[in-house]
Amino acid sequence: MPKFVYDFTEGNKDLKDLLGGKGANLAEMTNLGLPVPPGFTITAEACRHYLEHGSLPAGLADEVNRHLADLESAMGKRLGQSDDPLLVSVRSGAKFSMPGMMETVLNVGLNDESVHGLAAQAGDERFAWDSYRRLIQMFGRTVLDIDGDLFEGAVEDVKRARGSDDDADLTADDLKGLVDRFKGIVRERAGRDFPTDPREQMDLAVEAVFESWNAPRAILYRRQERIPVDLGTAVNICSMVFGNMGMDSGTGVAFTRDPASGQQGIYGDYLQNAQGEDVVAGIRNTVALTELGRIDKASYDRLLEIMETLENHYLDMCDIEFTIERGKLWMLQTRVGKRTAAAAFRIACQLLDQGLIDVDEATRRITGDQLAQLMFPRFAAKADGVRTLTKGMNASPGAAVGKAVFTTERAVELAERGEDVILVRRETNPDDLAGMVAAKGVLTSRGGKTSHAAVVARGMGKTCVCGAEELDVDVKGGHFTAPGGVTVREGDVISIDGSSGEVYLGEVPVEDSPVVRYFEGQLTAEDGDDLVTAVHRIMEHADSRAALKVRANSDNPGDSARARRFGAAGIGLCRTEHMFLGDRRQLVEKLILAEDDAERKAALDHLEPLQKSDFEGIFEAMDGLPVTIRLIDPPLHEFLPDITELSVRVALAGDGADAKDRRLLEAVNRLHEQNPMLGLRGVRLGLVIPGLFGMQVRAIAEAAAARRRAGGDPRPEIMIPLVGAVQELEAVRDEARAILDEVRAGSGIDVPALIGTMIELPRAALTAGQIAEAAEFFSFGTNDLTQTTWGFSRDDVEAAFFSRYLELGIFGVSPFETLDREGVGRLVRIAAEEGRKARPGIKLGICGEHGGDPDSVHFCHEVGLDYVSCSPFRIPVARLEAGRAAI
Ligand code: ADP
Ligand code: MG
Ligand code: MG
Repeated sequence: MPKFVYDFTEGNKDLKDLLGGKGANLAEMTNLGLPVPPGFTITAEACRHYLEHGSLPAGLADEVNRHLADLESAMGKRLGQSDDPLLVSVRSGAKFSMPGMMETVLNVGLNDESVHGLAAQAGDERFAWDSYRRLIQMFGRTVLDIDGDLFEGAVEDVKRARGSDDDADLTADDLKGLVDRFKGIVRERAGRDFPTDPREQMDLAVEAVFESWNAPRAILYRRQERIPVDLGTAVNICSMVFGNMGMDSGTGVAFTRDPASGQQGIYGDYLQNAQGEDVVAGIRNTVALTELGRIDKASYDRLLEIMETLENHYLDMCDIEFTIERGKLWMLQTRVGKRTAAAAFRIACQLLDQGLIDVDEATRRITGDQLAQLMFPRFAAKADGVRTLTKGMNASPGAAVGKAVFTTERAVELAERGEDVILVRRETNPDDLAGMVAAKGVLTSRGGKTSHAAVVARGMGKTCVCGAEELDVDVKGGHFTAPGGVTVREGDVISIDGSSGEVYLGEVPVEDSPVVRYFEGQLTAEDGDDLVTAVHRIMEHADSRAALKVRANSDNPGDSARARRFGAAGIGLCRTEHMFLGDRRQLVEKLILAEDDAERKAALDHLEPLQKSDFEGIFEAMDGLPVTIRLIDPPLHEFLPDITELSVRVALAGDGADAKDRRLLEAVNRLHEQNPMLGLRGVRLGLVIPGLFGMQVRAIAEAAAARRRAGGDPRPEIMIPLVGAVQELEAVRDEARAILDEVRAGSGIDVPALIGTMIELPRAALTAGQIAEAAEFFSFGTNDLTQTTWGFSRDDVEAAFFSRYLELGIFGVSPFETLDREGVGRLVRIAAEEGRKARPGIKLGICGEHGGDPDSVHFCHEVGLDYVSCSPFRIPVARLEAGRAAI
């Protein structure tokens, strides 16, 4: 039978799976000889058993009995002993910290008798009754599910009667009265008396903590933070120490470095004559931790000493909960502290400089997501005439400026006209998705960081401020009012700061973050910004370790140049379809409407020089680096006018309809597909429309030859999309080779070009061995591969049912965001393996959206791909993760 209970002296910090973070670290501190009140931990395994079977595992009760007996003999008093009670806290604590999401009950063991014993021992009536009423309050809320407001309300009543707004002013008699009222509340609401048997209190509290694993807010938090749903929580039974024993007692929290900036120093809050939860609850004003130096110098010095011990032991920034009982300091919790992105980089480099960690470890300590956060644009200094309207919750970082709009329709309408808008709503719902996509930012007056607006905005990387409760939003009236009576109407410009939650009236200028300016080459590591220096140091190391190269998805010279500045090793995906839009649409129409070879050729001849100059620009920006050009992929009807609009136009014109319009409509109807994603596109187009791919290949070859002539070093790679069978590829490849030979002969310049394919259909992955015979490289198109493997189209399913799927745990994260290792990833592995077997040394890359996603980058490293390709702005993140994957 497994061991379900560990004394604090038995555990250590590496047992988080079993003891949870809190329990493992309490044990670690105990073993370091730090002053931790004795206690023991019931494992998460026991919790999992309880949640699964609805009952405690056999043998647990015996183990608890034994550990409790040991604790009692060590402390020299029994749990709830009437003349001198041992009191304990029953505390949740899972493997991953879920701050405040689960439950804890303090002062377990008090009842109508032991409260007198406690009073006598402490020589303090008031303290004893305060502790007792806290127990009933917490127990009532947590174990008996009674609405906490009922207890708060009763406390308020008594305070009002006393004429004070500070609960420190309540007398022993007030508190005694409260205990009676609380017991009444319990009887009325729970239909039972408050249990007076100490052991029953403890056992019920343990079960309640187990159950708090499945509290709605805990479930939501786990989904948000991608914490597995089935870990369960450990329970810590910890003997009580009291911060509420008078002014020489108190409780506080501390950080060994500033979790916001990462600066070294003394950070934290302290509250005299209080118990733990008072600090977080914010019911009384805390003082800065440095004040403790004045209040109780000895405890303060001891605390600083312990903080140093902890940092040197954990080799990282720690956060701490402590309590002082009549001048004696007790440690109640520590963990490696959460920190902002900027602090993470600074702290990693500080620890490196202090010689506490090496540079590999420093690089492991930060993440690509944190780097991404440092790259969001920010507001520059406020301009004249800008005023702060309010502050909401910083739900999704970034800085957005635009005209306020109040409906999705208006957001879409104005955005289509090229205007920047901020969508303002009381709260958003799935119908607002189109408006959120169209808007630069989203502002809501209701809902927290887990509201629809916040979750969706974060998912889209869109700036969002939510829960700005001071705003009164009138959607029908098309305006909102802010404190001070300011009214903002549709069309008024506002600015929202998703990193701070601030909302401004007027336009605050936006600027690149220093980290982006560093990647742009406008700032260097020596310019004195310590954050930039930290980023530089970590990036250098990541690059030196990375096995994966990082390329860019880019289809124009501007983006390509930026990608290069950001460290791209070439282009992994140059889409050619954007080159068929705008003025060139007419040429494409001509191509589609062509009735014979001559007409078709004429259209293609027009397009070719335009394509050639597109490619020349890109080759120039990426001189000396590979540029993978994908031949045209989407179905042709995407380049034709909208079917409804055109039908209406033709119908209205009747007999007088334009001949060209009639032909267009015919073509649109002919090309209309039920499932364009699975229709005439990719290599199929190349095989069905004579000359189309050939024109593109010729343009590539001519552009490369021209660059060569101009002294450049173009490195084209020609990529055929949507291949499912090697025969498709062979046909297109033979045509392309013939054209390359022709251009070579004509220009006298030999520009070698690789010819390869995308692997984006399951059949391609499964026959990769055959395909590799005809392909000089593979690029995994994981967007399409995800769609075709799962059999759902991204455009149709994300809004329709993904949130339900996430809720049901069918996937923990959208497979379009993070590559699905088990399914899609399996195909990638098969294709990589068989491709390499057939053609040793074949170049392998990935060009789906996943190329910039940290977890997917790690997967690509594991499979041994040569490169990932992602959007230019995402390149630093991919570089960093490529390095981290190799460490
Ligand atoms: P959370 O995980 O929500 O922080 P904790 O289990 O840490 O919950 O407990 C809540 C508060 O009660 C904290 O401030 C903690 O320091 C305090 N506390 C917990 N156990 C004890 C104890 N044995 N003696 C004194 N205070 C305690
Ligand atoms: Mg805590
Ligand atoms: Mg594709």
